[in-house]
Amino acid sequence: MQNKFFTAEKILPHVTRIAGMGGELCYLVEGEERALLIDGLTGVGSLRAFVRELTELPVAMAATHGHIDHVGAAWEYGELFIHPDDIALMYTPTHSGIEGRLAFASAPNPAAGEKRTAPTLRDVPPPRPVKTYPIYDGDIFDLGGVKLEVIAVPGHTSGTVVFLDRAARVVFSGDACNANTLLCGAGATSIEEYRESLYHFKSFQDAFDVMYGGHGAIAVPKTIIDDGIAMCGRIIAGSDEAVPTPAIEGGIAYLASARGENYLPACGGYCNIMYSRETIHKRPHPAIKGEPNLYR
Ligand SMILES: [Zn+2]
Repeated sequence: MQNKFFTAEKILPHVTRIAGMGGELCYLVEGEERALLIDGLTGVGSLRAFVRELTELPVAMAATHGHIDHVGAAWEYGELFIHPDDIALMYTPTHSGIEGRLAFASAPNPAAGEKRTAPTLRDVPPPRPVKTYPIYDGDIFDLGGVKLEVIAVPGHTSGTVVFLDRAARVVFSGDACNANTLLCGAGATSIEEYRESLYHFKSFQDAFDVMYGGHGAIAVPKTIIDDGIAMCGRIIAGSDEAVPTPAIEGGIAYLASARGENYLPACGGYCNIMYSRETIHKRPHPAIKGEPNLYR
């Protein structure tokens, strides 16, 4: 099913993948009693109305993280499950502003295919206060016959989570770990912290086979976690390729491996990481200051 903004495709009997105009992806998971919309694209066109055509079930929305191309439908639903560490991020003008969202959907993107409409600001529901429900590592969504388990994987943002469906042996992973894992933007953790997150994620590796992410419509093998751990190790040791590349937010970032075919890392595996040299190592806790105050 499709309209001019969205394309939906069943990838499992109870899961529909929906693509937005920028090639960004979200997942509608249906149980017997409820449905959960994992991520909400960029918020250009009414995803809420589109989802209503796909299911009769009551729908709640949860976000893997607070970025512009994942929380768009929250401005329509007015309610969102999200990790508290990403709430401030989603409200920043960068991730909620209507001009930026329109630009994301309008930008040419070969992976997204030919656009079927030229959207205008009238197609972009403006941001508004959203009732946010906090989700944490270990939480479970019971949709009736279908359960989704929350796993925290801080890295791409500090509030990043993924959703594990043990029965279907899949994880819905947002941008947590992919062929272009961005660890250089505002809200990202250090590489050292990200590696710890991947070790935590790896402790669930026996429970699933593939991951469906926020970009790139392929089922990624779970060994990408091992690729990511190895890549973090090389970055920390200074033995990665460190290919300079323009950072999305300005300045220079580094790609841990050159890009090979199909955007995959030339060094092999599925995980590549874009990072900034300043944030490889764990920073001291903000409560620990470098310089003492002098009172007199
Ligand atoms: Zn993201």
